[in-house]
Amino acid sequence: MIRALVSAVLLCGPALGQEPLQRYRDEWTVMATVLDVSVYRTDATTAAADLQAAHAEIAALDRRMSLYRADSELVALNASDHGAPVSLSEPMAEVLSAAREFTQLSGGAFDITVMPLVDVWGFYHVSRASVPEARLIESARTRVGPGMWSLVGNSVVLKSGARFDLGGIAKGFAVDRALASLRARGVTAALVNLGGTIGVLGARPDAQPWAIGIDHPRTQKLMGRIKLWRGAVATSGDNDRYFEINGVRYAHIIDPRTGQPVRNIASLTVIAPTATAADALSTAAFVLGPEQGLALLRAYPGAGGVAVTSTAVTRTENRDQAFEVELE
Ligand code: ADP
Ligand code: MG
Repeated sequence: MIRALVSAVLLCGPALGQEPLQRYRDEWTVMATVLDVSVYRTDATTAAADLQAAHAEIAALDRRMSLYRADSELVALNASDHGAPVSLSEPMAEVLSAAREFTQLSGGAFDITVMPLVDVWGFYHVSRASVPEARLIESARTRVGPGMWSLVGNSVVLKSGARFDLGGIAKGFAVDRALASLRARGVTAALVNLGGTIGVLGARPDAQPWAIGIDHPRTQKLMGRIKLWRGAVATSGDNDRYFEINGVRYAHIIDPRTGQPVRNIASLTVIAPTATAADALSTAAFVLGPEQGLALLRAYPGAGGVAVTSTAVTRTENRDQAFEVELE
């Protein structure tokens, strides 16, 4: 035991004549949420440049993928001449092809063409708290579904009326890209947290796993923690944006197969090998519900998760070397 301790100290300590790694951290507002980046470096100047680079990467993706910027690639795509191929930037082609994969994997529960339904339910104007008329929902549904678009090389073809909403995947994609840019700069240990979608790079210098708390969606109290050696974590919940009519809580996540907002589930936390996968799978599993949602996670290599409803907390068993979930 003593020997183990001594060798642990030797492993953690800096090599002779080398500065120790320290944690450097910064925070910004981007993609309508908070970005929090930590890198471990031996000097502050390099760390500051790393942190700026991670932020710049995410800000650039936001300029492409936002629905709130009149000049974004996504807004242009949604307004483009439907039926004709539109050529895509490299990141947009990549995120669309990932989105397609998670749509197939989830049997259509995750679907970026959900935009017309998001619009009808008014989630971009939460103040308008009313249930839309059935005919409006039905009309929107005719413009939603995996058959509404196809990728041909680096171009996309949209069918008439189709519109994309990347809100269920863009944050995860951005976290992965930020981590890749940090790795390319020679960073060996980093954590990127974009509004609760969290990805890690490398091992912490103290050889401990990265620790990520899970808050209960109703009490906001810590209900567990995830020890993460590699990979990413994302949560979908009915907390952030929702409205309530006659005591029914309508979340901002819609089941594209029914046109109805998802009910009866409060939060779904996913651990997966990449932040893109964690983000898309958390939205998908939220739509599928605790039982089918956790089954989807068990079937996905390297994934796991925790589902919270008003009556129960359910989870996948720990079986992966990359992470361990501990609930209180
Ligand atoms: P958050 O954005 O709060 O982290 P999610 O990652 O689950 O939560 O994304 C929810 C967003 O995804 C919604 O605000 C909407 O823009 C979009 N969305 C809603 N329903 C779906 C769906 N079934 N599939 C894909 N995206 C969806
Ligand atoms: Mg998501």
